[in-house]
Amino acid sequence: MPRIFSGIQPSGELHIGNWLGAVQNWVNLQQSYDCLYCIVDLHAITNKYDPATLAERTREMAVGLIAAGIDPERVTLFVQSHVPEHTELQWLLTTVTPVGELERMTQFKDKSQRVESVPAGILNYPVLMAADILLYHADLVPVGEDQVQHLELTREICRKWNAEFGRGEEFFAEPKPLLTQARRIMGLDGQAKMSKSLGNTIGLLDTPEEIWAKLRPAMTDPARVTRKDPGNPDICNIYSLHKYFSPPETVATVAENCRGAKWGCLDCKRVLADRIIAALAPIRERAAELQARPGQVEEILAEGADKARRIAVETMREVRERMGFLAPTRASQPAAKR
Ligand code: SF4
Repeated sequence: MPRIFSGIQPSGELHIGNWLGAVQNWVNLQQSYDCLYCIVDLHAITNKYDPATLAERTREMAVGLIAAGIDPERVTLFVQSHVPEHTELQWLLTTVTPVGELERMTQFKDKSQRVESVPAGILNYPVLMAADILLYHADLVPVGEDQVQHLELTREICRKWNAEFGRGEEFFAEPKPLLTQARRIMGLDGQAKMSKSLGNTIGLLDTPEEIWAKLRPAMTDPARVTRKDPGNPDICNIYSLHKYFSPPETVATVAENCRGAKWGCLDCKRVLADRIIAALAPIRERAAELQARPGQVEEILAEGADKARRIAVETMREVRERMGFLAPTRASQPAAKR
């Protein structure tokens, strides 16, 4: 069965943007592939972050993923920093990665413009991504268009390492992109992509009251000043969300009622709110069950890390050997405390 690696940053609670944009795809892929899904906390610290909340955000992300349908019995779900081989391989791969290629990355250019002093972590981010993928000999990586460039660099790093250390073999097979249908979910402000940091989201675990409180003031077609003003659903984010949450006949009614000024925007949002509440109810229920059993999520993540490490340790044993390191004669032990 082909192997997939994919990562998600520990931003805390999932919202409907990353659910529709990525997690639903992960749930589908787990049926047909050997999937490793990783909460990439080491990537997350390349941006400014709060150390006091990182662990809790990581845990919350795991709860959200499992509640949303990621099945730990089927996939390997784990936290990146629980498998130290990621950082070891990253260091080794930096030795074959041209700095010029890293500086060419669009994300590096964007991010480095926003800070006065550029941390090396931002520059080396794609090398860690290459290590994530190559460590598990992943065949496929689900990528949106914004990640295609990074994956191409992974493939180049892979070729360079193989040429230098592969002893005429393709030790690392070049991972291929599994292009996913780009779903760019706009935030409730109608201005930017849905993002927790912009406060324009609906959380996957929000209560019905919270969902309505967020949808009520959400941006619509500004032409609809009063109920009598016809609108254009094609420029309204509420209509876009209806397409994800409502059946086709409701979507058609929304367009007709909007264009013909047959209802107000609040009526339209109420219908959408009820659809979202119904769609998220089973996820909230599963999350509540997980939260009620302390230790269960930690246990799932520990098992995931064990499974991932079994592959990672074997890869690193071969990598060290091919790169010529002196193998330790026995596992080193920390000195006993006196
Ligand atoms: S009626 Fe619905 S689709 Fe039309 S502008 Fe209002 S919220 Fe948007």
